[in-house]
Amino acid sequence: MGKVFFTNGNIMDVKAEKIFKGSILTEDGVIKEVGADLTAPADAEVVDFGGGFVSPGLFNCHTHILMSGQANPSKDMGEVETIVDALGNCKKHIETGVTFIRDVGGSKYYDIQIRDMQRKGKILAPEMQVSGRNICMTGGHGWSSGREADGADDARKAAREQLRAGADWIKLMATGGVMTNGVEPGSPQLTEEEMRAAIEEAHKVGARTCTHAQGNTGIKNALRAGIDSIEHGFYLDQWCYDWMKEHNVYFVPTLSAMYWIKVNGVEAGIPEWAVKKVNGAFDAHKKSFYEAYKAGVKICLGTDAGTPFNFHDRTAYEMVLMVEDGMEPWDAIKSGTVNAAELCQVEKTHGSIEPGKVASFTVYGADPIADINAVCDCRMTVIKGKVAFCK
Ligand SMILES: [Zn+2]
Repeated sequence: MGKVFFTNGNIMDVKAEKIFKGSILTEDGVIKEVGADLTAPADAEVVDFGGGFVSPGLFNCHTHILMSGQANPSKDMGEVETIVDALGNCKKHIETGVTFIRDVGGSKYYDIQIRDMQRKGKILAPEMQVSGRNICMTGGHGWSSGREADGADDARKAAREQLRAGADWIKLMATGGVMTNGVEPGSPQLTEEEMRAAIEEAHKVGARTCTHAQGNTGIKNALRAGIDSIEHGFYLDQWCYDWMKEHNVYFVPTLSAMYWIKVNGVEAGIPEWAVKKVNGAFDAHKKSFYEAYKAGVKICLGTDAGTPFNFHDRTAYEMVLMVEDGMEPWDAIKSGTVNAAELCQVEKTHGSIEPGKVASFTVYGADPIADINAVCDCRMTVIKGKVAFCK
């Protein structure tokens, strides 16, 4: 691929919380030099950032590429349509600056195959980590596409099945949820023993674990069982914040999931039972997010893309919601870059613009620190030194 000299950018140093005018020299997809006074080597291709604001490549740490944001996701689509839409969803991520996704709950292992096609360069998609089928109790949240498991031995087997299929993550359903009729977000589902068995299997091979966890009892079960990240987290409390900080557990609040259901509502075709559950937990969720942030829990950007009206081109809007709910703009940017890279254990190669790291960038038209809404205007996406999108 050779050398590429990216110039005329406002480079965002997310770790130092500084922005400076400068250039980036990359070679074979890796950053070689970053600075204010670099000159282009004679043998380098030159790419103009156009004065844009250059962030490290944006992560979305909670996606469902096999779901496309339809009002009622339990209405089944055909297999071909599902796959074609999934490839379109990957493209939408690229076109809105997303260079890395963590997909947390697919069906039939299609997510694993799509990840492998991305790695082979066969499709236009962000880099990705995937989780195969979610593991839930019989009849629990997500059962229709998940692997139902009952008892610790079965949960262990279910985790081994996902790892055998090639999952990077094990996704466990600790509580009920919004998008499955007849289950309540607050009620615990998989037991602590079941989750501990599955988590042990994942950790044995260096895989990570995350949990759909909305109610307080289920969240605590997952934390005590050794989970690595809490998704949604409607009803967190001080005990949870303390535990999460002590054990380096990440929080992926997915504010978008609730927001898009609330603003669209039953009129748009979202099932009434789902809207009701969102309205019942909306304020508690915002409170948990703000308290966790203030307590110093590490927060990562994820949207739950694929849930109703939560389309795959809306990742950046999560940062707008986070700032509206009290987060500092730099921290919102970090949630989708450095923090996200740590969550996915790729922080040595991703998450900031520094020599030695992968040359993946998201270029915004204006300064997102001055006005966070700028993140919704992605001008260019660069993945491993290649311009994957430009407008
Ligand atoms: Zn989800």
